[in-house]
Amino acid sequence: MKKINYRGIILYIIAIFLLLYTVPTLSLYIIKNNFPEKKSNLEMTGADNLSISDEDLTMRVVQVYDVNKKAVIEIEIEEYIKGVVAGEMPAEFEREALKAQAVAARTYLLYKLKKNTVNPDEHKDAPICSGIHCQVYYSKDMLLEKFTQAWFDKYWTKIENAVESTKGELLSYDNKIIEPLFHSTSGGKTENSEEVFGSFMPYLRSVESPYEDAAPKLNASITIPIDEFIKKLSDEYGINDLNASNLKTKISLLEMSEGGKIKSLKISDKTLTGREIRSLYSLNSANFKFIQSKDNIQIVTTGYGHGVGMSQYGANGMAANGYNYEDILKHYYTGVEIIRMR
Ligand SMILES: [Zn+2]
Repeated sequence: MKKINYRGIILYIIAIFLLLYTVPTLSLYIIKNNFPEKKSNLEMTGADNLSISDEDLTMRVVQVYDVNKKAVIEIEIEEYIKGVVAGEMPAEFEREALKAQAVAARTYLLYKLKKNTVNPDEHKDAPICSGIHCQVYYSKDMLLEKFTQAWFDKYWTKIENAVESTKGELLSYDNKIIEPLFHSTSGGKTENSEEVFGSFMPYLRSVESPYEDAAPKLNASITIPIDEFIKKLSDEYGINDLNASNLKTKISLLEMSEGGKIKSLKISDKTLTGREIRSLYSLNSANFKFIQSKDNIQIVTTGYGHGVGMSQYGANGMAANGYNYEDILKHYYTGVEIIRMR
């Protein structure tokens, strides 16, 4: 249909039209059950003391603020990691992908413990919480509530095995614990950390992610009425000179990231980031294109998530193609080593 006719325009003129809504970023999170997206700590300031100590490697338990019970619980680390793998990756995924997620989850735990020298305001009595704010952890009770007994019987042993077979393993770079960012689907290539979160991390480099064909949100689109598109830009950013006939000339692309996302674009006299547009219209990713028709704007997206670090669907695709968890982790986290707790 129309899409094909417009494709050339989309690819190269790229100046397409974006609209911004005032949809709160919250809605982004509600939509994505299985792939909660947390804010990167790269955007937070604070002294870094990420060197791995002997003490770090002999930890056994962790205090977690349980967002459901609204209480702090103490859990043995490997048990905690099982609940995180269950919370952060579909259990249907390949075993090696689940193992990669287990190592990332354990790494993230230590990263948070070291990064937060004081407990965050969101949970002052524990260094980490069981919600999206940190990393999602489901207790067995929660899993039974959220899924079914049949699900539990089918997948729990698989999750346990993935965690136990990588027991104590962590990712380090230059003897420091890394922030193992991940996302659902990169759209073919991951992003450099500084292009998304502003901080350069040597292990968060843009790499190819060629095995994402099975990702359900690799390609998606939403369609919204032109006036709504324009209203959002007006309400949120005070851009008031747009109309259906001048959108094409008022919107232009400024900068793309290495991974193919829109870093910035110009709308009228304002410069907005791709992330701002993503948030405004609740888009799957900042890799988007606008297609204008008579009454509507179609926003076509590629990939799902911020695109930095490990692509979960990419990891699953690698696993399905014979790569093991170590291959996966070393592919998505450039130059890292796997070390073991004792
Ligand atoms: Zn938290």
